[in-house]
Amino acid sequence: MEKTESQETTDRAKFMARYKIRDIVEADDGWEVLSTSGKTYTVTTKTCIGEMGSMFFTWQCDCPARKRCRHIDAAEQYRYLHSVANGDIEDLDMLEMIH
Ligand SMILES: [Zn+2]
Repeated sequence: MEKTESQETTDRAKFMARYKIRDIVEADDGWEVLSTSGKTYTVTTKTCIGEMGSMFFTWQCDCPARKRCRHIDAAEQYRYLHSVANGDIEDLDMLEMIH
């Protein structure tokens, strides 16, 4: 079903409210997340090779939390939604979250 523009705006607003952020945009090296405090944080993924030769991503955010934070949650979900929208979810099979 095609989404109208207003539906997408509503979805986006819900997404922002859910993660308590003001905006998220894709950047060259990850995602820039504008927090409700007005600061912009950059969330990046790093590709690592595990002991068994499996590939996985680690998520990093440059906010002061230094742990799993809502910016990473938002970026992860944002990435997932875009992958689904593009019909490109196969690579998520090998996605293994390590934090
Ligand atoms: Zn963060």
